[in-house]
Amino acid sequence: MKFRKHPMQYRSFTRDKLQVSALGFGCMRLPLLQSGKPSYRESIRILQYGIDHGINYIDTAVPYHNGESEVIVGKALQNGYREKVLLATKFPTWAAEKKSDLDKILNEQLTKLQTDCIDVYLLHCLQKSYWGIVQKLEMYDWLITKRKQGKIRYLAFSFHDEFALFREIVDAYDWDVCQIQYNYVNENVQAGTAGLQYAAQKGLAVVIMEPLFGGTLANPVGKLGEVWKKSKQNPVDLALRWLWDKPEISLVLSGMSNMEQTVQNVEIAEKSGVGTLTDVEKSVIAEAQKIYDETLPIKCTKCKYCVPCPFEVDIPYNFELYNNMIAIPGNNNPKTLAKNLYAMLDREHRAGNCKDCGQCEQKCPQHLSIRKNLKLITETFN
Ligand code: SF4
Ligand code: SF4
Repeated sequence: MKFRKHPMQYRSFTRDKLQVSALGFGCMRLPLLQSGKPSYRESIRILQYGIDHGINYIDTAVPYHNGESEVIVGKALQNGYREKVLLATKFPTWAAEKKSDLDKILNEQLTKLQTDCIDVYLLHCLQKSYWGIVQKLEMYDWLITKRKQGKIRYLAFSFHDEFALFREIVDAYDWDVCQIQYNYVNENVQAGTAGLQYAAQKGLAVVIMEPLFGGTLANPVGKLGEVWKKSKQNPVDLALRWLWDKPEISLVLSGMSNMEQTVQNVEIAEKSGVGTLTDVEKSVIAEAQKIYDETLPIKCTKCKYCVPCPFEVDIPYNFELYNNMIAIPGNNNPKTLAKNLYAMLDREHRAGNCKDCGQCEQKCPQHLSIRKNLKLITETFN
């Protein structure tokens, strides 16, 4: 694989010491049409812009955009773009019931992505229940076979659970790469800083997802917003460079949704580097961490794993309304504002329509008490 010379910064990746761009393109939040379906044209345009400006790592997965993300990536990587990147996608761990499902799913992914080989193949969203499936179906042995056949290159997993399970998984097999949720407000959430350091010390390349915590850190509101305003720092710039400051991190994924975000993130990545944060910048992050912990009550990343709810409750939006209400002390009457927005929701999308079935909680990687929070929101807004 040839990598272009470009102002993009590159970092060491895997034990092979590949040079991977500091910024990876996450394909979970591609541009949307008014219908809510992904825009193929705009998605391909921003993906190719990113690659033309030095991004050489593209990350997708089966469930993103209801299966269309892999198709879009396959199209975007035509006309010579495939050879310029490391292509990462994920095996939908939960979808396998028997061993014969494994080949079937991988082959469908290869077809959608229009490639013979996936460079980084991750077992998706490992958490306690899915880890059981991995072991039962002996998926690691299957991955080894697929690597021998040349269908995948690097063995990896993405993770959403507690540090103890993370350590168990890292120790269980000879992985090349792990992908963890990490940002300046998640140092003690899931794998966290302890997981980052543990994996790196074991020789795994560490890929970071949710660097802006579902966009929350890009547009900080309330007290958190005041910290950033006072500091005169750009919250996206510093949140990303805080990650790249750490030598244990190989790559930061950002789920870019439009050209403006793509251009901005590429520019920030170009000036990134280990040990480049100043003491002043570090103190702004420390202050933001303190305030964040004190304010947002529901730590929802808007990942949308919990939806669709069988009764159509829009769980992440309800949480966002409540969080913003708590975190906007500057607003004269934040409760009225949030209440009005809640009343504008279709009745079935409101927290009050929750039927307590519990399905969503099994899927939430943040392990939130969704039902309890929805009850609180219903009581607050009714
Ligand atoms: S517990 Fe409530 S919000 Fe969750 S899936 Fe069931 S009805 Fe929907
Ligand atoms: S409630 Fe959980 S699963 Fe749903 S969007 Fe928030 S973090 Fe994701």
